[in-house]
Amino acid sequence: MKILKLESKILIKIASVICFGILLIVLSKFILQGFGSINHLPVSALNTFPGAQIEKKLVITIFAIFLSFFIASKITFYFIVFPISILSALYSPIASVYGAPDYQSVVSLLATNFSESVEFLSSIPVKQYGKSLLIIVMAITCHLIGEKAKIKPWKNKTYVLLSCVFFVIALEPTLFVRKLCLAIEVTKEKLAELNKYSANSSWQSSERKGVPTDYILIIGESARKDYFHAYGYPVSNTPFLDKNFSVKVDGMKAGGTYTIGSLTNMLTVPDKNKWSPRYDRSVIDLAKSAGIETCWISNQGMVGKWDTPVSAIGKKADLSIFLNKGDYSEKNISDFALLKPFKNIINRKSDQSRLIILHTLGSHPDACKRITDIADTYQTDDKSLSYIACYVTSIKKADQFIEKVFNICQKEKVVSGRPFSIIYFSDHGNVHRTVGNKILINNNLTSKFHYDIPLIRIDSEENSVSAGKGGG
Ligand SMILES: [Zn+2]
Repeated sequence: MKILKLESKILIKIASVICFGILLIVLSKFILQGFGSINHLPVSALNTFPGAQIEKKLVITIFAIFLSFFIASKITFYFIVFPISILSALYSPIASVYGAPDYQSVVSLLATNFSESVEFLSSIPVKQYGKSLLIIVMAITCHLIGEKAKIKPWKNKTYVLLSCVFFVIALEPTLFVRKLCLAIEVTKEKLAELNKYSANSSWQSSERKGVPTDYILIIGESARKDYFHAYGYPVSNTPFLDKNFSVKVDGMKAGGTYTIGSLTNMLTVPDKNKWSPRYDRSVIDLAKSAGIETCWISNQGMVGKWDTPVSAIGKKADLSIFLNKGDYSEKNISDFALLKPFKNIINRKSDQSRLIILHTLGSHPDACKRITDIADTYQTDDKSLSYIACYVTSIKKADQFIEKVFNICQKEKVVSGRPFSIIYFSDHGNVHRTVGNKILINNNLTSKFHYDIPLIRIDSEENSVSAGKGGG
């Protein structure tokens, strides 16, 4: 009789544990759904990447283990599990429409008047409110079963240990897989975006006469003409350009006020009526149509909101090198790093002309970050001008960069006898803006000054390092 009683006790305990476990899993799922952490999300990376289903199950299991430690004891139930369940139950109907809380969901509920809020809430299916109720009921039931059957997972060392191991194993690879899959998705999207801009060339074949020459186009960034000593700025920040130029154009206007807006127009023959670039008429394709080898070396980002269309033009080159394959802001590489690949290319033997485009990061805000490898930076006692000092130094760095490019070409000319021609221009200027007590110079506003850019040509045949000629 006693044995039978004991057996039935064990059976009841086992049944309780099973019920407890199943309820816990369902409750975890509902609570997480209630917070919008899983499911409900209409279009989200969480739902679209390949490992999403596995990750969802892992997240539910982890949360169920978490609950198992707190739901059976009275104190922890009322102080931890019950408040969580209430919160989830309250938000659950909204999560069914908007997912996790964000601007959209908060606005829908709060930033409208009472009748609109009522209307919004009444548009949610009744089923969702039933689910809210179920969360509360299940939490209480689970707690009561745990309490009655004396389920105390925290006292079971094996369970505690296994839970810890599970946490470690589940969290790490899940994060890794998720990050990896997301990264692959994002990359695919960005590269597809890049291809969107690559149109076939519509240049007919063209002809270039004369001995093979190296053409170097240096694209400056955010460099305003009036900040160059070569164009009259009082601080002597362009010692190289002051003396070394064949042609200096005063009056050149940018094709736009920001990088893409300007360069896509300036590096193509744009549609002048629509003020839009024509990717089928790029400078790269024109050079190629004349049998010129083309190379694009960039220190700007390859893909990203502010980079992709320009990169699409660069990608058309026979050889394109991007020091930064992500967004421009992801890395802070000095423009001087462009010199190594440039030198490698210039030193290669070739019997054709070459067009090498160097896309610099120049004076891109924050200019103070661009000059960390410049020895004699300009300093000012006036704190309000500290950024301007950085900016003036960044122009000095541009001057040094052009000089280094010139020297590399000059050396190669001594060896191979190839003439060269360097053109420097900036994509656009910037404008002063006072923030607090500091005068900044950036692109947060547009101005006339955005259009005033330097344009300078240095030809090997008309130029020598010691004695430069003045131009118009
Ligand atoms: Zn720019």
